[in-house]
Amino acid sequence: MRSLLVLLLGATTAFTQTAQAPAAQTPPGPKQEKPAAKPPTAKPSTGEQPKPGVTVNKQAQPATPAKPQTPLKEFPYTPGLDPAAMDKTADPCVDLYQYACGGWMKNNPIPPDQARWSVYGKLANDNQRYLWGVLEEAAKPTANRTATQKLIGDYFAACMDEAAIDKLGIKPLQSDLDAINSLKSVDEIAGWLGKQHLAFQGSGMMFGFGSEQDAKNAQETIAAAAQGGLSLPDRDYYLTDDARSKDLREKYVAHVTKMMELAGDAPEKAAAEAKAILEIETALAKASLTRVERRDPYKNYHRMAFTELAKTTPHFNWNDYLAGEGIASEKELNVQHVPFFAELNNQLATRSLDDWKTYLRWHLIHAKAPFLSQNFVAENFNFYSKTLRGVQQNAPRWKRCVRYVDSDLGEALGQVYDAKVFSPALKAKTLRMTKQIEDAMQQDIQSITWMSDATKQEALKKLHTIVNKIGYPDKWRDYSSVKIERVDFLGNVDRATIFESKRQLNKIGKPLDRGEWGMTPPTVNAYYNPQMNDINFPAGVLQPPLYDPKIDEAPGYGNTGGTIGHELTHGFDDEGRKFDAEGNLRDWWTEADGKEFERRAKCISDQYATYTVVDDIKINSALTLGEDTADLGGLILAWVAWKAETAGQNLQAKDGLTPEQRFFVGYSQWACENDRAENLRVSAKTDPHSPGKYRVNGLVVNMPQFQEAFKCKPGQALYRTKDDMCKVW
Ligand SMILES: [Zn+2]
Repeated sequence: MRSLLVLLLGATTAFTQTAQAPAAQTPPGPKQEKPAAKPPTAKPSTGEQPKPGVTVNKQAQPATPAKPQTPLKEFPYTPGLDPAAMDKTADPCVDLYQYACGGWMKNNPIPPDQARWSVYGKLANDNQRYLWGVLEEAAKPTANRTATQKLIGDYFAACMDEAAIDKLGIKPLQSDLDAINSLKSVDEIAGWLGKQHLAFQGSGMMFGFGSEQDAKNAQETIAAAAQGGLSLPDRDYYLTDDARSKDLREKYVAHVTKMMELAGDAPEKAAAEAKAILEIETALAKASLTRVERRDPYKNYHRMAFTELAKTTPHFNWNDYLAGEGIASEKELNVQHVPFFAELNNQLATRSLDDWKTYLRWHLIHAKAPFLSQNFVAENFNFYSKTLRGVQQNAPRWKRCVRYVDSDLGEALGQVYDAKVFSPALKAKTLRMTKQIEDAMQQDIQSITWMSDATKQEALKKLHTIVNKIGYPDKWRDYSSVKIERVDFLGNVDRATIFESKRQLNKIGKPLDRGEWGMTPPTVNAYYNPQMNDINFPAGVLQPPLYDPKIDEAPGYGNTGGTIGHELTHGFDDEGRKFDAEGNLRDWWTEADGKEFERRAKCISDQYATYTVVDDIKINSALTLGEDTADLGGLILAWVAWKAETAGQNLQAKDGLTPEQRFFVGYSQWACENDRAENLRVSAKTDPHSPGKYRVNGLVVNMPQFQEAFKCKPGQALYRTKDDMCKVW
């Protein structure tokens, strides 16, 4: 949760946007893709119609109540290639996404509690319903529960006891609020913050702090401090001055005011407080790196002594802070972005103690709101889900509680989940596919003509060092020291958070644990981490329709094979290529090879920059370049692996599609989605992935195999000659 690995380097690169939109600000730990321990949040704003670009859900604005759901005993089966999800009236050479996903989009409107709806999101929702059943069972206080069942069951029971939580109101925060109130000077903030950060998820309160692998020596884990301190999803929200941004800021101030009122302040006082909070956050936003800058690992690496940092921040006592964190003996750290801390110091020097108390109170209330009584939960939802992302109603209590268990005790929940849904056969099959895809990458590296032998040797060494983690970790995390009570929900959240914070800090100076996982087993996602040089495939992403063991190989290799290839290619995208086989930030490219790589990558970013996300907002292709490169390289590798797997076989057409066409439709069907315009606006600023439509159409224009499979002709939208195609890997 507080590993700064990604916070700092933007390192871990996941396959898709998190199925549930994260709430505010940089979510905790292994990057944006890890769901924050908060429900999604958003709002239908000015009633403007989005311009065509991506398929935007234009259905009824009034909230239609969500259909009541029940726990699942088994996953509903959806085939890995579903003819009913297609729109065969569309021409695949004009719009493959519509051809493969038109039926899906029509038949799968966005549920009222979701910011977007996708094949991934739907599977994640099925997963949650399945885990709901598991947790309901575990929550029954019977004598024969295992320790793991008791842990996750009691946590779930406390979360579900809304009546008890409502009765308490803001009381669970009272002692923390009193502590803020009794601060006697700005100098005392550091010591208080060090302690408070242990129970804090994410980097919203002033800055982020934790441990990470040293960028230049991946074997070494060091302390790290990262920019943060904001409550809106990105620095740009504070700094852009178009009408929509100004309107959102006004609504944000109104929200902060409301929350301060709920915490007991008079309306006028609350309004003045909200103004001061916006001022501090705006100053911090100005001094923050952009998301594109955060993709450059060199811009995020400044290792120094705490005494050196202290010279930049004389108004922040690092000794007190480290004592609060319980790691007073640490001498060095990585400071992600020094100017940010200089500005933080400036704010500490110039703002009144009262303004700082207001800021700290707000961040405390904001961070813990999802775990408080319904009035806090509802107001938090109203701004972060409804206004910001267009979500019509909050997810039912059970669903939020399942997410919190997964976020706080994910490997305990995952242990129970994997035992039920993940077979050794599935693990073996996935490993086989992975091996074939690695072989394809080896062939590719050996045969490309634009790279020198010296760079090829380094690339091959890196390829051969990648560790594949499939299904679940070899060693489960031991949560036995976390005290979970059947009442005291917020206390459980805090204790689980402190456990995780200490676990992260405890890694400093210790030998690296290469077995660690950055996603929980039920997660419907996958990632590559350049510092660990590993690929992780949780069991959650290996279920139908994403991986369907009952169907022919073509769609399976297109879909799961494409995802494996995607993660592998991340090791060699514009960010991943800067790390070597050991996970160290080191330039192993000759100058000419590096230049040629950049030229090839630019072809992709120029292409994606022409696509519209929503309104007149184009894809920020400097932000999505790594993902777009991984999509293209990944599917090319999956194709080669599929051909190797089926060599000599007489493959049959099915559902009116040739095997080659089934490969591409199978690939495309992972990406089917419907999205709200509001959510697309947030994604355009924050999501390093392109919208699903372009992850399909933008990719296949660069594959001659696609042109052949569908016999595309000059003049058709997705037709390109070989000479015009982009290719990196
Ligand atoms: Zn990715």
